[in-house]
Amino acid sequence: MEECIDCGACEPECPVEAIFPEDALPDKWEPFVKINYAYGDGMGVVNQLTNAYAAEHNVQSPPLEAR
Ligand code: SF4
Repeated sequence: MEECIDCGACEPECPVEAIFPEDALPDKWEPFVKINYAYGDGMGVVNQLTNAYAAEHNVQSPPLEAR
């Protein structure tokens, strides 16, 4: 498994400015730190955490076929 070496090269390349150093993460994205770390535990855990976040923050997304 390859690991991030924290070089920062990806940060300016992200088209939606979604990459931050962990110590500069805006407060509103803090819940996603736990979700990102959960990738090592499998997608079942990630989906559980993501669904919990969505329910807690009333995040709604239309089904793919409706987009
Ligand atoms: S480009 Fe981004 S993900 Fe890749 S090593 Fe550098 S900081 Fe980590």
